This record gives sequence, C-alpha cells and structure tokens, in this order.
Amino acid sequence: MENLDDLLARAQKHAAEYLEQARTGSVIPSADAVAALPAFEETIPEHGSSPEETLDLMHRVGSRATFATTGGRYFGFVTGGVLPGTLATNWLSTAWDNNSALQAQSPATSALESVASRWILELFNLPADCAVGFVTGATAANLSGLAAARSHILNGLNWDVEARGLFGAPEIRIVVSDEVHVSVLKAISILGLGRERVIRVPTDDQGRMRADAIPELNSSTIVCIQAGNVNTGAFDPAEEVIRAARKAGAWVHVDGAFGLWAFVSLQYQELVRSFLEADSFATDGHKMLNVPYDSGIVIVRNREALSRSFSATAAYLKNSAFDMSNFTPEFSRRARGIEIWAAIRTLGRNGLAQLVERNCEFAKRTPAAVTDCGLTTPHNVVFNQVMLAAKTDEETDRILRAVQSSGVCWFGGTVWHGRHAMRISYSSWNTSEDDFLSTIQAIRRASS
Ligand SMILES: *Cc1c(COP(=O)(O)O)cnc(C)c1O
Repeated sequence: MENLDDLLARAQKHAAEYLEQARTGSVIPSADAVAALPAFEETIPEHGSSPEETLDLMHRVGSRATFATTGGRYFGFVTGGVLPGTLATNWLSTAWDNNSALQAQSPATSALESVASRWILELFNLPADCAVGFVTGATAANLSGLAAARSHILNGLNWDVEARGLFGAPEIRIVVSDEVHVSVLKAISILGLGRERVIRVPTDDQGRMRADAIPELNSSTIVCIQAGNVNTGAFDPAEEVIRAARKAGAWVHVDGAFGLWAFVSLQYQELVRSFLEADSFATDGHKMLNVPYDSGIVIVRNREALSRSFSATAAYLKNSAFDMSNFTPEFSRRARGIEIWAAIRTLGRNGLAQLVERNCEFAKRTPAAVTDCGLTTPHNVVFNQVMLAAKTDEETDRILRAVQSSGVCWFGGTVWHGRHAMRISYSSWNTSEDDFLSTIQAIRRASS
C-alpha cells in the first residue's frame, strides 16, 4: 500500500494523456489497435501481480482501441462527454466506495445525492416532494417510471401488484407513438406488460405523435410520450396528450433522455414546458449533462407509487423512508448522484444553459453548411439532433462510410421514414467551434 500514491498518480497520468489524445487525435481507433485487443485474452493468473502492471496493460492496449467519445468530435447516438468536475468527483467517490443504498451507512453520499435530487427538481421546476431515483440510464429510468405507473393503476383497482404479480390482474393499456424509443418497449416487456400489446399512435413528418390520432384513454391507461425523438430531436404534443389524459385519469410517462434538458435554457424551455405536467419522467445524466456512465434519473410525482414498486425491508437493513433504495431497482450501488451534483455545481444555471444552447446552435448551423454539397435535412432542426441525406440511399451510405473512416469525426446512420440518413447528435460539453468546423469540412470532403 506504500505505493498507492504512485499508483493513483500513474492512473492520473494515463488518463490525462488519454484525454489529450481524445481531444486532438483520431476519433476512431486504428484497425491495428483493435486487432491488438486479444492481448487481454490471458488465462487467469495463478499468482497476482502489481496493479501498476495491470493499469499499464489497460492503457497500452485499451486506450488506443477506444472511440474518442470524450473528445469534441464524436456525434454518434446521443452520447455526451465527461465534464472535468464529474470525472474528478467520480474518482474521489470511488475512493470512498460508500454504498448509496442506505442512508445509515453513507451519510456523505446521501447528503450529496439528496442535494442532487433537490437541484434536479428545481431545474425542472417540479414540486419538491417528487420522488427522484438515480439509476443506471434512461432505460432503467423508463422501467422505474413505468413500474410506478403500473403500481398506481393497479393499486387503484385494489390489486396489489407487488404482492400478487400480474397473473389475473386487471388489464393495463399502454399507448406509445410509432417512433417510441426501444428502451421504453424493453421496459414494458420487463414489467410483464407485453411489448406487443401496446397501442401505437402514428407519427407526423417530424416524428411526433399525432395528437389527432390519440385513442380513447381511460384510468387504466399509461401514455408514453417522448421529449426528443432520437432521429429528429422532435417533441411529442405533450399539451394535447396530457389534457386528454387528465380528463380520462390516465398516467403520462415522459421519455426525456436528452430532450428534458431543453428546460434549463430559456431559449429552448418552451419545447418541454408542457411535458413537465406529466406523472413520471425518465432522463439521462450521461448524455446532455455530460457525467460519466452509468447515470439515469427517474422522477415520479406520486412518491408512494415509486416507493411501493421498489421498497424492500428487512430487520438487519434498518431502513428509513429516505433510503434511496426505496426509489431504485438496485440495492447496493455506487453514488452516481454525486456526479450530477458536481455537474450542476460546476456549470451553474448559466453553464447548463450554454451547454444546451451551444450544442443546439451547432445542429442548427449544420444543414446550411452542407446544402451546396447536395445534402438535405429531412426534418426541422429544433434541438440538438440533425440528419443529413444525399440524393440516393447509396450515396448517403457512401458519404457516411467516408466520414466515419476519416477519423476526423464520427456519427452513425439511420433509416428514417424509409430513407437512409446520417444522424448527427451534438451533446458534448467538449465540442468547440474548431471541432464543428473540421466536422463540416470532413462532411464536405466526403460529399465531393
Ligand atoms: C438514449 C435514450 C434512451 C436510453 O437511454 P440509456 O441511457 O441508454 O439507457 C431512451 N430514450 C431516448 C430518447 C434516448 O435517447
């Protein structure tokens, strides 16, 4: 243990070197680096070895074989980078290694996570008595919000779903849009609600749920709406949906993995204001907020519905009503709320707004910067997502492959309303004007 300082300093040196490479070097790993990964395929050693040697192996073989998602030129999926303050607090909280399941055994992490919960609710202007759970990602947050919805509806029908399960239970109807995110369907299937039983509402030319096609709702219905379509960035018509749901007594769940963050910017706030009247929300910390994986947040207005879904008590646990494990599927877990606290504290309201606005600005500037290359955008750019398509699917695919292999930047492809498209997601704190300009250059070169 005398070498612990040296070991941590070494990790810090490798990380600093890595981050510099991610910022300035190629976004994609070389074929050689990926081909060298079998160097990890050792047999389990009979005897241990120095942690330095293990750390060095990870750095030497692993660091080169990563995608530089923490740099400023990675626009795949909706990813986000890692804010410096969240990386550093992540390291310290790993050194603490306190378990955030129970308040009694982790006073400091509980205190920080409770501030993080309060700040999250304040940022979204939600009532202070909403339940907040720090989960692994928006998939787990969707699962958690929908578990609360299931519990609320069945509890109202005198069916204790936690005790009796779903066998013989009254039916729950679920309404989603045709462009619902797969993670919502995954959550529905895990919860025993049946992903093929859902009622799908058609979408419009922007990928929004069509308000005029919402089916009859009732008090046994859960409606899932989306703040931020993964292709177009579009927002479902929350106001109409929630009005109809209120009349019928239905539950509204919002998948706002990245889109909910529009609310932190005065400029984009209107996009999500009406969503915040819903019953439950799923969002991510590891996307727009730029904290390390794994970080998702579930928010539920009806505190009891979420805690009914997840509380489990036992004499030896000495549970209290404030224990975070009452609001998450997990018991033992790392204190992921700490990085959310650190992100909000280091950015402040201003920095948060600028983070969102800068990324949206890059998205808005993208179509005009490449129109003369024959690329068009098949949707309105309303937030951080932008798609580009050439005249034919083949040409789009060719350009995409050329951009991806350039190493200058990276984004993926998609099929949207029957057409192939390149899909660019601006969500990193680290994307600079230079990164943006070299990305545009790379697209232009590949298109010529
Ligand atoms: C990313 C995403 C999810 C899933 O989130 P994870 O953090 O990967 O679990 C769900 N919905 C939307 C709209 C997303 O963009």
